[in-house]
Amino acid sequence: MNLAERVKTLTPSSTLAITAMAKELKQQGHDVIGLGAGEPDFNTPEYIIEAAENAMRNGLTKYTPAGGILELREAIVNKFKQDNDLSYSTEEIIVTTGAKHALYTLFQVLLNESDEVIVPAPYWVSYPEQIKLAGGNPVVVNALEENSFKLTPEQLENTITEKTKAVIINSPSNPTGMMYNKEELIELSEVCIKHNILIVSDEIYEKLIYTGDPHNSIAQVSEKVKQQTIIINGVSKSHAMTGWRIGYAAGDKTIIKAMTNLASHSTSNPTSIAQYAALAAYQSGNGALDQMKKDFSERLDLLHELMNDIPGISCQKPMGAFYLFPNVQEAVKQNGFERVDEWVTALLEEEKVALVPGSGFGSPQNVRLSYAISTENLKEAAKRIKRFVMNHQ
Ligand code: PLP
Repeated sequence: MNLAERVKTLTPSSTLAITAMAKELKQQGHDVIGLGAGEPDFNTPEYIIEAAENAMRNGLTKYTPAGGILELREAIVNKFKQDNDLSYSTEEIIVTTGAKHALYTLFQVLLNESDEVIVPAPYWVSYPEQIKLAGGNPVVVNALEENSFKLTPEQLENTITEKTKAVIINSPSNPTGMMYNKEELIELSEVCIKHNILIVSDEIYEKLIYTGDPHNSIAQVSEKVKQQTIIINGVSKSHAMTGWRIGYAAGDKTIIKAMTNLASHSTSNPTSIAQYAALAAYQSGNGALDQMKKDFSERLDLLHELMNDIPGISCQKPMGAFYLFPNVQEAVKQNGFERVDEWVTALLEEEKVALVPGSGFGSPQNVRLSYAISTENLKEAAKRIKRFVMNHQ
């Protein structure tokens, strides 16, 4: 069968490829430690599960409005007011099947053939693919490690063309864990306003910040910037709810309406029960998540120290999310490998530790390690990586 042109260049997620290899080794009986996970290793809090159970028993198992139940959109409006001091109406919110589908739908309604979207690298793997699927062109700009992997206003200015429609800002970032401060967001927003480009602000890791710094949304800069921003968020990472598939987008009514129309012909609606679960998540505050955040923070300190102790590996300290993104270029060379990807494969084969090569994130000299696993496993993984590096010196 001759497949559609638009899927011929679609690449499988690099995160999933290494996970598949690790799984195969595990099935063969090997003791594999996977540092590839993109989800919290904690269970969804009990009160959220109970809310879903009640929804099922009370017959809330039917189609819902395409853009999500009104109660949940109201709860999201409240969340924005309380957490971010941003005022939205319920028509400016769409609930989607995960944040991933909010982004997918957004690009579908936004982009015409060859419209450009600026994607700062290192980037989350799905941005370029989703932009291409919508007929757009992802324009990748390398945010330098010296600048904590953050896009500068000059880089943004120099990349904008008459075809630029939007730029993606992901803070805290997957894969780097870095965050823009208020000043940096103001400067970037000035460039966006000047050139009238839309800001897609992916804030899915908002609740996982370990420095004590507040989360800043670029939409908070001014009313004008808010009108030119679509915020993407969801409960996957903040409430350990990756499998429930509830995300949302907030912004301009016309864009949200178009996204809702598209959703009505694609998903119909996000799962009704999961929407009631997310409603409970937002109505009950963040109490149950403090422990998760505390554990992540301790693991970050530990793994960051252990990784920097390995010859040829250097790692900046991330501020949020649950990933480390060390530069392993030196170690790769010292160990006699040409490319990071080969080094990662050899590490998996010899020491049974699975990392994700940075190439999938547009940063081929780095690797991504997730610390969404137990402290014992993190220590063991770091010990094995060090042994691998030393054995290949
Ligand atoms: N945006 C970023 C940066 C992510 O890392 C992820 C998940 O890995 C998503 C969006 C999608 O989240 P969801 O599970 O809500 O679709």
